[in-house]
Amino acid sequence: MRQKRQIVAITAAMFIVLLGAVLHKRPDLLGAFSRDALFGMQAVSIAAFIGFSAYNWRCPNCGKHLGGDLHRQHCGKCNARLR
Ligand SMILES: [Zn+2]
Repeated sequence: MRQKRQIVAITAAMFIVLLGAVLHKRPDLLGAFSRDALFGMQAVSIAAFIGFSAYNWRCPNCGKHLGGDLHRQHCGKCNARLR
């Protein structure tokens, strides 16, 4: 569950960043978006992703952040089983 939420968050963040990059290269697709708005959207999505990860991707036992390994089975600090 925790891992699925993290994967969904990564996918959503990447999608928004890629969408922003596409719109940046093709301003004719959505003329209403200014470059500042696109940049702001990407910055907000990245900030939201970082905030979500900090909240979600923690050991349920000791609260330590689990780092970059999505397939981690045990907490590195207290060795609690994560799945
Ligand atoms: Zn732990």
